[in-house]
Amino acid sequence: MKVLHYITFALLVIGGLNWLLVGIFKWDIGMLLFGSQEAILSRIIYILVGLSAIAVAATHKKDCKVCSAEMPASGQTM
Ligand SMILES: [Zn+2]
Repeated sequence: MKVLHYITFALLVIGGLNWLLVGIFKWDIGMLLFGSQEAILSRIIYILVGLSAIAVAATHKKDCKVCSAEMPASGQTM
């Protein structure tokens, strides 16, 4: 699970940085690396980033010290 944790984390960071590039420069990691958002490798990256988001969303709470420490049973999420 540790490896999966690192991979999903890295992919989420890549995804987040990609949005930064899109927001500031209108660049996109798929376009930069593979020439087009339609390129199959670009789409694979987008899919992997999205799957990582799902995996982290599903496992974050038990992996995260902050969340597990500061989540009383009040149902408050923020
Ligand atoms: Zn957390």
